[in-house]
Amino acid sequence: MQEAIEPATCGAHTQNGPCRNVAGFRTPHYGQGRCYLHGGMTPRGPDSPHFRHGRRSRYAIALRESLRDKLDTLAEHDPFDVIDELQLQRALLLDFVDGKDGLTAADRELLMRWAEQISKTAERMTRMRNETAMTAAELKLIAARLADVVARHIADPEQQAAFLADLFASIGVDGR
Ligand SMILES: [Zn+2]
Repeated sequence: MQEAIEPATCGAHTQNGPCRNVAGFRTPHYGQGRCYLHGGMTPRGPDSPHFRHGRRSRYAIALRESLRDKLDTLAEHDPFDVIDELQLQRALLLDFVDGKDGLTAADRELLMRWAEQISKTAERMTRMRNETAMTAAELKLIAARLADVVARHIADPEQQAAFLADLFASIGVDGR
């Protein structure tokens, strides 16, 4: 036998205990919140005449906080790092192959396109990595500029050499 579902009640504290009207009774939000006798007709949030527009409103602050949380989560994820997505695609592909005993021509066609998609993703990832990495030529240029600057500020050639050798060794660059 099915159990009767108790409707939610208003529940406002009255002299005779909690109000037993159905929640939201005679309000536009029947089934939720206080009944019409106990504050259920008082507009809340953006509908309220007391609602404060602007940055300091409680609602605005809550909204900004939830957006900030989402942005924080996204910020931790390097947008160029698609390794996770790539691994997921590979795993799905392997899973698909494992589940198939005899592959049909259509399956093979699908797998070929899928594998192509994966290698395209890998290619794109490698390209993005290379675009953001500093080239050997750029490092050489920086090293040469550094030597010029050091020469202008350190008079003693031995000190110059020692400074540069120490610097280049510490960042793993051949400064010669
Ligand atoms: Zn009530």
